[in-house]
Parts: sequence; C-alpha cells; structure tokens
Amino acid sequence: MKEKNCEELQREVERLKSLLDISLKFGSTLDLQELLNLIMEIAKKTLDAEASSIFQIDEEKRELFFVVATGEKGKEAKTIRIPWGKGIAGWVAEHGKPLLVPDVSKDPRFFQDVDKKTGFKTKSILAVPLIRKGKVIGVAEVINKKGGGEFTVEDTILFEAIAEQAAVAMENAKLYSQLENLFLSSIRAIVNAIEEKDEYTRGHTGRVTEYSLLIGKRLGLSNDEIKTLELSALLHDVGKIGIPDSILRKPGRLTDEEYAVIKSHPLRGVKILEPIENIKHILPGIKHHHERYDGKGYPDGLKGKKIPFYARIIAVADAFDAMTSDRPYRKGLPIEIARKEIEENRGTQFDPECADAFLRELDENPERIEEIIKRGRE
Ligand code: FE
Repeated sequence: MKEKNCEELQREVERLKSLLDISLKFGSTLDLQELLNLIMEIAKKTLDAEASSIFQIDEEKRELFFVVATGEKGKEAKTIRIPWGKGIAGWVAEHGKPLLVPDVSKDPRFFQDVDKKTGFKTKSILAVPLIRKGKVIGVAEVINKKGGGEFTVEDTILFEAIAEQAAVAMENAKLYSQLENLFLSSIRAIVNAIEEKDEYTRGHTGRVTEYSLLIGKRLGLSNDEIKTLELSALLHDVGKIGIPDSILRKPGRLTDEEYAVIKSHPLRGVKILEPIENIKHILPGIKHHHERYDGKGYPDGLKGKKIPFYARIIAVADAFDAMTSDRPYRKGLPIEIARKEIEENRGTQFDPECADAFLRELDENPERIEEIIKRGRE
C-alpha cells in the first residue's frame, strides 16, 4: 500500500473534521433550512467548490427546485425550477447514482437554463443523490472546482457522506412536522368536541385562532412564534370545561358570583394544561387573554406591555369574534360597528399595536374576515 504523505494526511484530517462539523451542527439548530445551508457551506469549502446546492423533488409537479443554493448567484438560482429528468440533477434524481461531469459543455445532459437566468458560468459539476429508505428525496451538487482543477473520486465519496447527513436532516424535519401536525389536529379535534355542545360558542375558538394568526402575521412573527400563537389561541378558553353550563349558557344577566366563576376560566385553563411539559410556553397567553391594556382586566390587572404578547393578540381577536357572532339574545354586530369598537378602544382595552394590525387586515383584506364570520353564522 502506498504510504500517504504528510499533505495527503493533512487533507484527510480536514475532511473528517468537516464531517464532524456537520454532525455537531445537528445539535445546534432545529431549523431545517438553516441546517442545510450550514451543511452545504461546509461542503463547498471542503470540496473547494465555487457553489453548492440542494434540490428537492416536487413529485406532483414533476419538477426539481432549489432548497439551498450557495455561491454568488445563489439567490437568483433559488427562483428557478427544473423540469423532471432535465439536467445533471434530473439525471441523478432519476438514476439514484452520483455523477461527475468534469466539463459540462461536453455533456448533453447539462441544463443550460439556470446559467442563462443567473449569469453564472458552470464548468464542472459533482452531483449525488439524497437517499432515504431506498428512495431519492433530492440531489446535492457542488459546482466548479476552484483553481480550475477537477472533482475527484475521493471528492465523490466525501460528498456522498455529506449528502447522507443532509438527507437525514430532511427526513427528521419531515417526521417532526408530521408529529407536530398530528398534535395540532388532535388539539383541534378536542376543542371542537368541547364546543360542539353549544351552538353559540361553536367555532369560536377556530375563528379566534384565525384572527389571531392574521394579526400575528401582520406583526411579522417568525414561524415558531406563529406556532406558539396558534396553540395559545386554540386553547385560550379550555378552562371553560370546568364551568357549569347553567352559568356558561345562562341567557339573562349574571349575578356577581356567577360572573366571578366565569372569570376563573383563564386560571382553570392554566391548571388543566400545566402538567403538560412541552407546552409551558403557551400558558401566559392563556392566563392573560382577558387582561386589558389599561390594567382593568383580569385575572391580574396587568397593564400595557406587561401583558404577555400572545395574550394581547388573542384579546383583540376574541373581542372581535364576541362582537360579530350571534348570541342567544342578539344577532352578531355588523363588521363596521365591531371595527369602530376596536378602533375606539385601542390603547384602553387593546394594545394599540395589535389593534392596528387587525384594523389594517380588516381594511386591506375584508373578504377574508367576512368569510370567517360567515362560516360561523351558517
Ligand atoms: Fe376567554
């Protein structure tokens, strides 16, 4: 066996280090996009390439699309979709085998559209399939060996190892989001079952959740924050389970005692959900959704920004739904009246920021809100 010289060993150590780097990154972030970007930056650097990318397969449209595109034209590249079976990536996706193309100008499989659209000049490509459970789920590429050299067989072996890590990351993210969806739909089903018994609250939670999400998106919340908001809104009134129907559905005026019982529902909700370890972060939104911005709400009389953010959003959504939905003793108010009510109470009952976000939504996207209200009246 040929002895490895010092330089070769050095290079091998570097390569192993980059694989280790990738596995360490797994622990540092849960965000798939971020993780794949990191992995492909490492691939680009370790394999001495000018650019790197990952394609995913859109089975319905029979296209490949970029999930990662590093390098100077990466941003432009990301808008492009590649038809099934086209290009080097398409070939690799179809055959499930790596492909090393030292000179793309001599390979008829090369798909020139991406270069034409981005202004990038592709010379050489090393492409490997991303495989999970025997199925090709994507393709990873490194493009143009720096210094005019060629990608080697050694590069291919390393890149396949890197691609495997990327494939695992993609698979994990998919499983995680399936689990998350299952969790959310179970919560929805339970909430619906609770509401089903009363025709006047039926659908309340769903509508409050939709309004809350519209506000949250207007306020530019991140994906994770939106998820927290959704769960908080879905469960905001869960504490009403503990309140007797004779009070909840009483048609006339409530006595002071009865009103006090109703007012206990945010705390009851917290009590019910507290034992669940993974949802501690939604408790503040539930506990404080009846606080008022001026401090005159309950249970704690919190004021202004001391009220948890998600609670301030839910408060606006909740009030709007209470006004616009039918009650045993009255029809729901027209949108314009409810709108005015929110406008007039921004800064007293409602956080002005959250109220404004909802007012903007009402003005710019009235059809969406009308549709949510209408669904409730059917
Ligand atoms: Fe409530």
